[in-house]
Amino acid sequence: MTDSQLQRLVAQLHEWARELGFQALGITDTQLDLPADRLGAFLEQGRHGSMQWLENHQEKRRHPALLELGTFRVISVRMDYWTDSDAKANLQNQERAYISRYALGRDYHKMMRRRLAQLADKLRAEVESSTLGRAFVDSAPVMEKPLAEKAGIGWQGKHTLIINKKAGSYFFLGEIYTDIPLPIDTPASNHCGTCTACITACPTAAIVAPYELDARRCITYQTIENKGAIDLELRPMMGNRVFGCDDCQLVCPWNKFAQFSENDDFKPRHSLDQSSLAELFLWSENDFLDRTQGSAIRRAGYEGWLRNIAVGLGNGPFTPTVIQALEQRRGFSALLDEHIDWALKRLLE
Ligand code: SF4
Repeated sequence: MTDSQLQRLVAQLHEWARELGFQALGITDTQLDLPADRLGAFLEQGRHGSMQWLENHQEKRRHPALLELGTFRVISVRMDYWTDSDAKANLQNQERAYISRYALGRDYHKMMRRRLAQLADKLRAEVESSTLGRAFVDSAPVMEKPLAEKAGIGWQGKHTLIINKKAGSYFFLGEIYTDIPLPIDTPASNHCGTCTACITACPTAAIVAPYELDARRCITYQTIENKGAIDLELRPMMGNRVFGCDDCQLVCPWNKFAQFSENDDFKPRHSLDQSSLAELFLWSENDFLDRTQGSAIRRAGYEGWLRNIAVGLGNGPFTPTVIQALEQRRGFSALLDEHIDWALKRLLE
């Protein structure tokens, strides 16, 4: 294809992406040496905790063409999910459960992957010689954040998430690996400057240095990935955050530019943005399975969900309803009982 044909194809690609509900698209090459070194250091220091899968397929992560033979370019896309402007008020209400805003609605993975696959199909249909167009949404060893930065979607902030100057950081990322030699975009430049708001705001001091996260201290890791007991040191710091945490994003000055999503999939379901901890703690296992169908919250599992809420209740105000709810849940598992004991001791002290 000639340069001008490729340029026209890129313009078309942007249009298709908009039609499919993506808010931005960028293109980059496959050189990832420096970010791969940073990942290596993160793993060497054990900061990934029990997320063993991050240790796997490191070469494929580092070299996209090893994951998908023939990959020459990576297309990175952004999809905004922010729907609630009242997150800070929710977080400050200690009787309410705070659920990370990305998880209030339907899980994004399937929907976004389906749309990305459609985008990949449209692209491949335009170039006869192309045999590759694979879509990923958090589904394979792909370095999505460094790729997004290289593709100009945004820069990796000191909290390690991607930030866009015009859209903040409340968005999901996805990628298409392609063999079409599309022109690449300019990488995003960093605009954190002297700001350290996210480092100061992190409730558990998980951002151990600018651009360095110790996942083991991160509330998102503790409430979702950790299947065992939550570290005693961290429990009082978690407050009412029962599934993920948004604090580093809530304080980021760039999020005053966050765009509201028009995608109905991301609207809060089952009033999860307004539920009390005590109310959610009384969900039966069937309630949990029913109400988290198609939701990211499923990942915590019922026991993990109760464990997290027990910690939230222990950090909240003493009320007879809370004590009764905690007492009522005894006997589900040794893990949960231990967290209930911790919460009751804290409340009755
Ligand atoms: S809060 Fe400040 S330091 Fe942290 S990511 Fe945002 S701009 Fe960068």
